[in-house]
Amino acid sequence: MTENNSSSASATNFIRNIIRDDLASGKHQQIVTRFPPEPNGHLHIGHAKSIHLNFGVANDFDGKCFMRFDDTNPAKEDEEYVEGILRDVRWLGYDWGERLTHASDYFEQLYQFAEELIQKGKAYVESQNADEIRELRGTLKEPGKNSPYRELSVEENLTLFRKMRAGEFEDGAHVLRAKIEMTSPNINLRDPVLYRIRKVSHQRTADQWCIYPLYDFTHGLSDALEGVTHSLCTLEFEDHRPLYDWILSEVSAPCLPRQIEFSRLNLHYTVLSKRRLIQLVEEGYVNGWDDPRMLTLSGLRRRGYPPSAIRLFCERIGISKSENNIEMSVLEDSAREVLDKTAPRAMAVLHPLKVVITNYPEGKTEDFEPSRHPKNTEMGKRKVPFSREIYIDHDDFREDPPPKYFRLAPGKEVRLRYAYVIRCDEVIYDTSGKVSELHCTYDQATRSGAKAEGRKVKGIIHWVSIQHSLPVEVRLYDRLFAAPYPGRDDPDGNFLNDINPDSMETLKSCRAEPGLLGTKPSEVFQFERVGYFCTDSKESGPEALVFNRTVTLRDTWAKLEQEHTGQN
Ligand code: ATP
Ligand code: MG
Repeated sequence: MTENNSSSASATNFIRNIIRDDLASGKHQQIVTRFPPEPNGHLHIGHAKSIHLNFGVANDFDGKCFMRFDDTNPAKEDEEYVEGILRDVRWLGYDWGERLTHASDYFEQLYQFAEELIQKGKAYVESQNADEIRELRGTLKEPGKNSPYRELSVEENLTLFRKMRAGEFEDGAHVLRAKIEMTSPNINLRDPVLYRIRKVSHQRTADQWCIYPLYDFTHGLSDALEGVTHSLCTLEFEDHRPLYDWILSEVSAPCLPRQIEFSRLNLHYTVLSKRRLIQLVEEGYVNGWDDPRMLTLSGLRRRGYPPSAIRLFCERIGISKSENNIEMSVLEDSAREVLDKTAPRAMAVLHPLKVVITNYPEGKTEDFEPSRHPKNTEMGKRKVPFSREIYIDHDDFREDPPPKYFRLAPGKEVRLRYAYVIRCDEVIYDTSGKVSELHCTYDQATRSGAKAEGRKVKGIIHWVSIQHSLPVEVRLYDRLFAAPYPGRDDPDGNFLNDINPDSMETLKSCRAEPGLLGTKPSEVFQFERVGYFCTDSKESGPEALVFNRTVTLRDTWAKLEQEHTGQN
């Protein structure tokens, strides 16, 4: 366990209440949970909700949580995903200890359970093809009909199933089905398929198997084999629970885990289905799974989100059964809250405008020594050199300032953070008529820290000394989608049409204070007055510093969101 990753033991939700009751009544002595991703994609912020819940309750109730790969679909799975998932869970602050498992570890036991069902007359080998099976399954309104193969004898079924395992049939020739009830109102109980033939090599068991168990059969039995007490999953599995319970009660399972469903995380302005995330990556809408605009855990990490911000977010959204759509600002605010406390401060100018302080001696340099962090004195101080020529941000100057504009304008004064008050005396234009330079004068008596008598200057702006500053590249990331529900209002329901064309802006001529020299990858700073920025883990290095914007200082989307929801 790393710092602060445990939700407080006093946290409460309906699942924690069930667990408390089960411990109090003596039903269980120790809680066992599991996080069961399929290794067919990388983890996203929705998975964080499930990780935080499963590992969180295990931590808080002194229980155990298994990290189990649900690897029953060899065609779609990949070792790269396995490694990525483990890295992401660890990064989020959770430790599975000895409990790293795979559904494929249990293939032999699962096979034995399947034979047990056959022996008990509770499963049969189906020889119809997929279309014929579908035909007889019925619909939500109409009951299904029994398969002509439903009444094969136990011996016939065993022989066929063993031949399936031995590889004597081609893909699709047969499947194993549970014998439950074709007229059940719950379609999941209409003799669901338990095993199918797939002559595909598996990333862990290689060619040992050519039949693979389906999710519903695998999941509950893997839970039972691991002694899981509470199998926590998302609501789409609610209708599968009767099947989960049926399977466990029909075989000699070592224990009876209880499945409890909670609602998935949905987040405005994003998509969280692996299928869509894969499409964004494969079709080049983003630069890989860890593109800082992706709400994958690797994307958030590269964006500069600390793991504690994601855990804080999970705390805040809670766990319930009701459908929910969380506003992006909840996630962004969690990052702001953590980073405000942890990120060292620095000054960087994103849109440089040259300022010459005409009454400041040429060749002179002064070092100002502000704190690295306004509250955390342990972070110490930094050196910020000042000289005659500085850059300020273009946005901090207006030729025709509106009323109550407290930054720089012709004839007006502003304070340079940590330094002096300057007045703008002259505006210099380039040949195209654009402002290219300002000539200002400073007042020595206003040195930061000294008593600036009779001087009330409302605006404070940031700056860097030109000769001392470092060139840096800054990438301004924004939400990947411009609509809160991507695809919802598109005539074709195509989420790709809602991609935000301005989700990334690259600024190549930014300048930062010299103290940032030597910044390591993935360090996050607050650029004062601008936002939180993190050095890019892939592209930033000693020869070129590249910063990703993690999050703005304030929620600039709040107004937009109000327009969308019609509130004010
Ligand atoms: P997707 O719909 O993104 O493809 P999945 O549910 O197929 O996701 P799994 O790898 O099976 O992905 O997920 C592992 C666990 O994470 C499951 O228990 C699942 O319920 C949970 N999970 C996935 N997405 C979310 C989400 N948006 N909110 C909460 N839990 C989620
Ligand atoms: Mg799944």
